[in-house]
Amino acid sequence: MSVLRLYNTLTRSKEDFVPIDPANVRMYVCGPTVYDFAHIGNARPIIVFDVLFRLLQLRFGKEHVTYVRNITDVDDKINARAAERGITIRELTEGTARVFHEDVAALGCLPPTVEPRATEHIVEMRDLIERLVARGIAYVAEDHVLFSPAKMDAAGGGLPRYGALANRSLDEMIAGARVDVAPYKRDATDFVLWKPSKPGEPSWPSPSGIVTEGRPGWHIECSAMSWQRLIKDFAGKIRCEAADANTFDIHGGGIDLVFPHHENEIAQTCCALETARMANVWMHNGFLQVEGEKMSKSLGNFITIHELLHDKTFGGRSWHGEVLRLAMLRTHYRQPIDFTLKALEEAEKTLDRWYALAAKAEGTDTPADSFLATLQDDLNTPAAVAELFSLFGSETTLAQAIASARLIGLLQLAPSEWAAAKQSWGNVDAATVEALIAARIAARASKNWAESDRIRDELVAMGVVLKDNKDGTTSWEVKR
Ligand code: AMP
Ligand code: ZN
Repeated sequence: MSVLRLYNTLTRSKEDFVPIDPANVRMYVCGPTVYDFAHIGNARPIIVFDVLFRLLQLRFGKEHVTYVRNITDVDDKINARAAERGITIRELTEGTARVFHEDVAALGCLPPTVEPRATEHIVEMRDLIERLVARGIAYVAEDHVLFSPAKMDAAGGGLPRYGALANRSLDEMIAGARVDVAPYKRDATDFVLWKPSKPGEPSWPSPSGIVTEGRPGWHIECSAMSWQRLIKDFAGKIRCEAADANTFDIHGGGIDLVFPHHENEIAQTCCALETARMANVWMHNGFLQVEGEKMSKSLGNFITIHELLHDKTFGGRSWHGEVLRLAMLRTHYRQPIDFTLKALEEAEKTLDRWYALAAKAEGTDTPADSFLATLQDDLNTPAAVAELFSLFGSETTLAQAIASARLIGLLQLAPSEWAAAKQSWGNVDAATVEALIAARIAARASKNWAESDRIRDELVAMGVVLKDNKDGTTSWEVKR
């Protein structure tokens, strides 16, 4: 099998992937903060790292790969949202996590090997924080514990430079820091490891030196969970050089997490565990936008995974998870992705064709070498999909085509199941169409032409063709 090459944000280059211990390949990906439904942008890292997880399993063996993706269940946004909805924090986080699991399963993603929750790892967070204070790199002030990047850089001793991942210097960061710095911070670049809890907020016994109870900052959560689940849980099992004892293989997340989140994770872990590297390879997916615009609630183009799969919000209909998955994989993970209705429609047509071909296939095979070669080149999924088109183009490679598609989480249904599922999601809902037509007639009656045109466009986007008759009635049909 050709070598696996991955782009490493830390070195800004594509490198051959060499695991520390091939019998225990270890990957950590920052998971969701469970205060609201996940949106289709959040689906991107989940899908990208699911493809990598599957590829690593193929290369190193299923039982030799550990994929940890956390759930952040302690956070200011969680407290605020629970209060707003008048429910307990636990009800909010459990409910949101449940929907998240349903969503990502529908996208064809395997569950991670371990899914730790931040609130289950407070002890490790305190442990790391106390080590940092003992080493003089963190300090206690007004019931907070703060990490000092300046102290880290002064410590030397084989530690990485603060800012190495984001490729920024501390001087630049000081210059760029906001002026309204919290009074308990010695330097503007210091960041919070632990903070006091207000009455009613979740709280835990604080690190030594603080009597009142408090709660962790966000960054320390991932340092603690990755340490417990990928280092401590493997104590005595990893065969490696002493210098690699506190390092795991791959750390991933969206590009927005490079700074400050991942930079701070590295700072905390490396200083507390006295290691030069937290993870060897740092991978980041590009951002997703919708029809050329940033996705945001205020622009009204904010789409949750749940809506896309179950409601008729995008293009007036719902979509199967594999359609979203294929549409995403047609863009390389490091590129920005423009999420469009057209891309979904094309992906669906492609899957229709592949499922129809799969129904005729006999026997099974292994993924094609040509396909694997593209995938192993820094997960070049657009090239891999192009390869699938050619493999599906010939009857002699059909069985290989199916095995290749399945490797990246496509064609997971039986062809008959796909056909049955289509009945239930692809259809335009007649009641919705009738309601829109009635609204359009009303708009026309009140001479609101702009609104009437807007509704017509919405219907067109749903694939509905209107036939206006002279007597003012309107009939319609769906064109695909
Ligand atoms: P958050 O809940 O904002 O912490 O995000 C969870 C994960 O989704 C992180 O890995 C983010 O980098 C990623 N993410 C958030 N928004 C987008 C987006 N629009 N496109 C791609 N990835 C995103
Ligand atoms: Zn993280």
